[in-house]
Amino acid sequence: MLENLNVQQRLAVETTDGPLLVLSGAGTGKTRVLTTRIAYILDMGLAMPWQILALTFTNKAANEMKNRLGQMGGGAWSAADIWCGTFHSVCLRILRYNCERAGLRRDFLVYGEDDQKAVLKTIFAEMGLDPKEYNPATWVEKISGIKDKGLDAATHLGGRMGEIYDAYNAELARLNAVDFGDIILKVLELFDTAPDILEQYQRQFHYILVDEFQDTNGAQMQFLTMLTPAGGAQNICCVGDDDQSIYSWRGAEIKHILNFDKTYENAQIIRLETNYRSSANILGAANSLIRHNAGRLGKDLHPAPGVDAGDPVYVLTVPTDWDEARAIADTIGRNADNKYSDFAVLIRAGSLSRLFEEEFTSRGIPYRLIGATKFYDRMEIRDAIAYLRLLVHPFDDLSFLRVIAKPRRGFGPSAIAKIRGYGANLMVGLRAAPLAGKQRAAADEFLAAFDFDWDAMRPADAAQTLLEKSGYIKMWRDAKDADAPERIENVKELITNVISKYDTMAEFLEHAALMMTDDNDTETAGDTNAVSIMTIHAAKGLEFNTVFLPAWEDGIFPNEMAINEGALEEERRLAYVAVTRGRVRAVISNAMSRMVFGERKYNAPSRFIAEMDPQFLTFQGVGMGAMRSLRTRGIEQSYGNAPRPRPAPVRSENLVGKLVLHTEMGRGVIIESDGDILTIAFRDKGIKKVAKQFVQISK
Ligand code: ATP
Ligand code: MG
Repeated sequence: MLENLNVQQRLAVETTDGPLLVLSGAGTGKTRVLTTRIAYILDMGLAMPWQILALTFTNKAANEMKNRLGQMGGGAWSAADIWCGTFHSVCLRILRYNCERAGLRRDFLVYGEDDQKAVLKTIFAEMGLDPKEYNPATWVEKISGIKDKGLDAATHLGGRMGEIYDAYNAELARLNAVDFGDIILKVLELFDTAPDILEQYQRQFHYILVDEFQDTNGAQMQFLTMLTPAGGAQNICCVGDDDQSIYSWRGAEIKHILNFDKTYENAQIIRLETNYRSSANILGAANSLIRHNAGRLGKDLHPAPGVDAGDPVYVLTVPTDWDEARAIADTIGRNADNKYSDFAVLIRAGSLSRLFEEEFTSRGIPYRLIGATKFYDRMEIRDAIAYLRLLVHPFDDLSFLRVIAKPRRGFGPSAIAKIRGYGANLMVGLRAAPLAGKQRAAADEFLAAFDFDWDAMRPADAAQTLLEKSGYIKMWRDAKDADAPERIENVKELITNVISKYDTMAEFLEHAALMMTDDNDTETAGDTNAVSIMTIHAAKGLEFNTVFLPAWEDGIFPNEMAINEGALEEERRLAYVAVTRGRVRAVISNAMSRMVFGERKYNAPSRFIAEMDPQFLTFQGVGMGAMRSLRTRGIEQSYGNAPRPRPAPVRSENLVGKLVLHTEMGRGVIIESDGDILTIAFRDKGIKKVAKQFVQISK
């Protein structure tokens, strides 16, 4: 086991006692070290499987780790007993075990973004706030932002913010629900108020391991520090790369990795410097790019010994976005003897996937889409889950409201208001309310659909039964919409491929709740032979033989907001993550013209292209003739003599004079800008200093 590691990696595996940070660049074997370390701890008999807590970034990564460990154990221990999962799945487990102490009922629900918005809408209506000014989506973000910071963040809110925050949480409590942020926050509160429970977990987890540590947020960091008190063993091993921190928009804080040795005084830090993933050219290009970031620890990263330079990193400039999709599909087609799963198209934003989907579909290239349109975001999947939630939790009024109208049963707002008065929840109310004629019949039919012995059935069969009996599937069968057949297919896939894997409906619903909030997780097994089209965020930690990196254009990557706000370093880290996913070949491309949300745009090539050292690159494409050569010869054989694309001149950030909108203070104009603090002259409220994140700035 240890023979597959280099000296530094071995040291990281064998340094089991005390706090350890493995800080190193992409592809240096951090994840491999983590997995081997767990096996080592178990083989040496240092802990039982359930005394190990391993935190990964996605549920998929957790499954892969467990699978790999399952093969390593040789039967001596069971990988299934390791506490391995995301922060959210682990904390949810802790909450379930201790729900009463955490102030929750046993059958509490986990709300996704849709549910959160619905709750906020009700609250705004109750508080008499204008829905035009109070956008639920914006407020979901604000509230999550507070919860992601951990305990204490909400203590001094005050004002409108505080009112809404409190009302929102009170409504969740009334509905017996928690939101995504609560999953961790409630565990922190539990640990805070119930020291005996905290101590129990401190005692249970002898070893804690964290992958992708650079992307932990405040709440998650607090969870870790509470479990590893000073004076205790503090056997915590975190692995990460400050250059790959790409989730600050979700509350991740790079300072946790930078301050690790302050948080843990006798921390050891091990650096891994050999990259085993990428060709020397890919690595060289990536290194030369990330060097442009000022705020980094700085590391040396070398290719593995004996690795050759490999292909240069290809940079294609093509006339249109369509040419780009064709060139990429051509290249995949040309290398069809490779496995399709060797290829990935990594996109900056989900909206870029469509042309690739069309091009691949028309050529019969199998693909899977990850992180862009979430399976769990589809209307029919949400509907089906709402039905199942209501089946298991009859008190779930939000789900009731969603499904009572699917198919239509003649219950409009006034009927609902009436029902509300007849019971603690809408299901009870519907049964008890004095309804007449058709309405009573419709109500009884609806209630009857839920009235069967689902608990004694396999969850997949119960789901099938409910969705048939309730008329939901029939609704789509009868629908004339062009996409109705696809929706039925999706529901079928949910039942046969997902729900069927669970032993109880409650377990499935728990899983669904986690998946619904994490757009970067994926269900599909990694071994399907298909090209992956995924966002760069979703590709973190993964690797592919060939990566295509389209739309490297100013305004897209880096995106408009990052350029305007001078927030380029995180975009550059994202670009670094993208390039370093490639093992053998990386193909960067930019189109001179592209349709963006229905408008033709003429973007300059990304400044990131110009930042990379040209010795690792070759430039191709540009005109129609070049496109023909590309199509007939393929990227590898084409002439690499196109001029190096020149990026647009760098615009300096000048916010002064721009108009802004603030949810509480209304409209105003920026008169001074100092980093994140803006001085704004508000039309009604005078001159105020406001943090940039709280205002919308017009273009
Ligand atoms: P990232 O920063 O992208 O998450 P990482 O540091 O976690 O990368 P791994 O994914 O663990 O890196 O490893 C990258 C690749 O290198 C994997 O294919 C892994 O199997 C391989 N690898 C790691 N260490 C070695 C080694 N000592 N010898 C050979 N191959 C190795
Ligand atoms: Mg990794």
